[in-house]
Amino acid sequence: MAPLTPSVDPIHALLSAHGLRRTAAARLVLGWLLAHPDTSYTHAQLQAALTGDSALVLDRVTLYRLIDRLTQVGLLLCRVDAQRVRRYQAMPASVHAIPHFECQSCHRDSPLAGALKANAQDLERAGHTALEALKALGYQGMSLDFAVRGVCADCATGSTP
Ligand SMILES: [Zn+2]
Repeated sequence: MAPLTPSVDPIHALLSAHGLRRTAAARLVLGWLLAHPDTSYTHAQLQAALTGDSALVLDRVTLYRLIDRLTQVGLLLCRVDAQRVRRYQAMPASVHAIPHFECQSCHRDSPLAGALKANAQDLERAGHTALEALKALGYQGMSLDFAVRGVCADCATGSTP
């Protein structure tokens, strides 16, 4: 069981560390995305999910601004999907190099290491090599998004994961 002593709220700590106001709305949005780290959401999906989950009513403008701020400070990752719609998720550690697969149907984001085995390591190594080469040329602050986009095997075969 969790101890009864008060501890630092990790979401509050993240918001403070990134210079954001610790509003109820910010807690709600970031908390939801951190609790669902493998799924990316559009603005509309996020609003629907949060409205169903909480008594707090988030208007669209507030939600859009909040998502923009969270993305600017690097807490959220924004990607544009095949339909050119922006999708947001909690910044995954995998983004930095590990090859991952973004399903355009169920919007799960999974590492490719299991599916690709040794080939995934080759991809990762190629990414690291490219970053090292750029660093030697004086490039800075780099990150690598190694994403393969498509339809996952579960969606393709119509089986539910
Ligand atoms: Zn899928």
